[in-house]
Amino acid sequence: MDFNHTSKSTDYIARLRAFMNDHVFPFEREWMDFIMDQNEIKDWKSWKEHPHLENLKAKAKSEGLWNLFLPDHTLGAGLSTLEYAPLAEIMGQVYNAAEIFNCNAPDTGNMEVLFHYGSEWQKEKWLMPLLEGKIKSVFSMTEPQVASSDASNIETELIEDGEHLIIHGKKWWSTNLGHPRARFSIVLCRSGNEIDKRRQHSMVIVPLDTPGVEIKRMQSTFGMYDAPSGHGEVHFNQVKVPRTHLLKGIGEGYAIAQGRLGPGRVHHSMRCVGAAERALSLAIKRSMMRNAFGKPLAKLGGNSERFAEARMDIDQARLLIQNAAWKIDKLGIENALQEVSAIKVVAPRLLQKVTDMAMQIHGGAGISNDLPLVGFFVQARALRLADGPDEVHLRRISRLEFKKHLKGLY
Ligand SMILES: Cc1cc2nc3c(=O)[nH]c(=O)nc-3n(C[C@H](O)[C@H](O)[C@H](O)COP(=O)(O)OP(=O)(O)OC[C@H]3O[C@@H](n4cnc5c(N)ncnc54)[C@H](O)[C@@H]3O)c2cc1C
Repeated sequence: MDFNHTSKSTDYIARLRAFMNDHVFPFEREWMDFIMDQNEIKDWKSWKEHPHLENLKAKAKSEGLWNLFLPDHTLGAGLSTLEYAPLAEIMGQVYNAAEIFNCNAPDTGNMEVLFHYGSEWQKEKWLMPLLEGKIKSVFSMTEPQVASSDASNIETELIEDGEHLIIHGKKWWSTNLGHPRARFSIVLCRSGNEIDKRRQHSMVIVPLDTPGVEIKRMQSTFGMYDAPSGHGEVHFNQVKVPRTHLLKGIGEGYAIAQGRLGPGRVHHSMRCVGAAERALSLAIKRSMMRNAFGKPLAKLGGNSERFAEARMDIDQARLLIQNAAWKIDKLGIENALQEVSAIKVVAPRLLQKVTDMAMQIHGGAGISNDLPLVGFFVQARALRLADGPDEVHLRRISRLEFKKHLKGLY
């Protein structure tokens, strides 16, 4: 295994770092205040993007720092999962910064789905505007009435009706639903198949302005609405779309979901590592410049050991993620399932732990919005649920471990 950066990756790292230093870090405070102010706006339909965001996106695009996640050479940067990983880490240092480079979830996962499984018409209609950053998209799987961490519970019905499909059901926690430019959702539906459990679900592209699509409300995480993207509850009331909106085929939902989530979990995890690095750096700086009981905070109690623990935890997580990325690239996602689940557990836990330590060393300031730590903490805690709760990934890891033993591999 070779985790050295390729020359292509090294070049992107240098350019992305420079961009973050010149344009994103100086904008961070103002941007976060803007996001927080939108929390006060009761009517989510009035949510807006910060006006400067478009300038930054145009600049990132003109510098070739755009769609870096997409492994295709023509439409994206053509980087492997391992080559892209350090770029996700750099973006992770500022909450939401991935958005500036068109590398944010759930759009990235949806773009990958459309790229790999979309028809020519679907690509032209939905993928191209997403790649250009003109529209936003939603992924709707989770449902209020069933335990959605078990995908086989999903109830939203898909009925075939000649050249049309009818969708009926309720979803919630659909990220991006409140975004002023959100145009469609990829909806996971139950299409039926009593024989094969893995072919019971299908994915359909549903434009949000289709009659019967009813956005009920936005949901908050720790009192924050993540405006203007938001996470919302949406009901599909006998929604009728042409059959051309079906992705890949009836019963292909499970297979698409497997492909969609692998690289996305590497992206999420590396952003956690980037955020944890930033939290550690802030903690160390604070502990060196502030004194109590006649000493810098760094020299009090077990603080320096806490920094050492954080250093080791971050480096372990990064190596685990690089290993998963390498396996996805070399062996395919189907042979990296255990590793992908492992990083999905390890990285958000790491970020939660390091951020908690950094908050503590900052005293009261640590839990204020003067610093990015609260945002990182919420990101970490939410990620331990989003994209599958920890327990579901632990279950998969242990089942795969048992399988190896049963096959006599140990
Ligand atoms: C910020 C945020 C953004 C999200 N974005 C999206 C999105 O864009 N699209 C979307 O579809 N969903 C999204 N989600 C939803 C998320 O994916 C689900 O909340 C998650 O999959 C869990 O499903 P659930 O809420 O139905 O919990 P449930 O399935 O009811 O599970 C509840 C709890 O049960 C326990 N549990 C479950 N299975 C096991 C097990 N095997 N062993 C032990 N314990 C278990 C766990 O503690 C788990 O947390 C988002 C969630 C958050 C918080």
